Formats: sequence, structure tokens, C-alpha cells
Amino acid sequence: MVTRELAEELQRVLEQFAREAGFCERLPIDLEFRPGIVGHHKVGRAADIYGVGRHGLDKWHARWDSVLDAALRKRNHGVAKSIMNNECNENLGWRLYKALQIHGRWSQPCGYPVQIFGPWTRSEGPWTLISNGLLRAHRDHIHVAK
Ligand SMILES: [Zn+2]
Repeated sequence: MVTRELAEELQRVLEQFAREAGFCERLPIDLEFRPGIVGHHKVGRAADIYGVGRHGLDKWHARWDSVLDAALRKRNHGVAKSIMNNECNENLGWRLYKALQIHGRWSQPCGYPVQIFGPWTRSEGPWTLISNGLLRAHRDHIHVAK
């Protein structure tokens, strides 16, 4: 169970994500939530998303890394750019992270970073200084708190 405030924020952002990614009521997209236990989870103010579009966030992130690797090996800058543009379109894990990052209003306790962590936090932000330990703890899910 999560607070009404968090549920409403998730609903707003996730509906926007689904619309932008081309899904609708007749063509829905699945999301996999799993309960968390520490920190904001104890009071229902946090949610963990482990999967989207029938794949785990770890799979989406591994795919992202290998496509990025392949793009970086291209000598032609235009080709590399088009490979990544395509991946930005098709990688639902990355799209979900960006939608949550851009459209979500997550909590930021005094002296702490904005409470959205996931496999892309170091490369995409907002908290690019995320520690190795915290990044490793979020390699297979996205954590948001409100
Ligand atoms: Zn969490």
C-alpha cells in the first residue's frame, strides 16, 4: 500500500509515459511493481518498479549498454546518433526512467538528493553523483518516493 499522494503522482506520470510511448486502453502496457521494505517504503511513500513491457529493468538496461557500446564503436557520428535515437524510442525501460525523471515531482528531503534512483541515474541524473553501492542496489528497478 502506498499513500494517496504517491498513487496519484504515479498514475499521472505513468499515464503520460504510456500515452507518449504509444499505448492506450486497447493496447495497454504492463508494469511490474514489487513491495520495498526500507526507508520511505515503511510509510507507503515509495514505490519500486521492476519491469515494463514484459521485461525487467535489468534487461532493458543491459540492452541499452550493449546498443550504446555498438554506437560508440561506429566511426560515423551520424550513424551512431541514429542508432541511439532509435534506442531512445524503443527502449521502454529508458523511456520509463526518463518519464519518471522529467514529469514526476518526487520528494527531496533536506540534505538528500531527489528521490528517484534506477539503473540510469548516473548517466541521466538527476543525482549523477550516486554512489556505486546505491547504483548497484537499483540496477534492476526504479525507486521513486513522494
Ligand atoms: Zn525502493
